[in-house]
Amino acid sequence: MDPRIDPIDVTVKRDEGVTLVFADDHVASFNLVEVRLGCPCADCRDLRQRGQDTWPRPSSPLPLSIVDASYHGAWGLSIQWNDGHSAGIYPFETFRRWSDEGYVHGPIG
Ligand SMILES: [Zn+2]
Repeated sequence: MDPRIDPIDVTVKRDEGVTLVFADDHVASFNLVEVRLGCPCADCRDLRQRGQDTWPRPSSPLPLSIVDASYHGAWGLSIQWNDGHSAGIYPFETFRRWSDEGYVHGPIG
């Protein structure tokens, strides 16, 4: 495993955000909206490519929160949101890239 993309600790706070500690001691922290806006699922990618916000959608309850989160294999995090959206699986590598680059733009390209 690459220590830069191998988290040794993942903390999900349903009403706050997601914090990961990587094996090289790098800490990456994101608030809920950042994580939601970067959702890597096909639908959200499509919305971003059309210049639309992936959240909030017309039916989205406010405020945003996480209903459930679980590991997806050894490489990512599956997140279920309070608007029922749960298609996105977030690779740990993506969180690391967002942190290194200082912003979230989603996994386009
Ligand atoms: Zn999505």
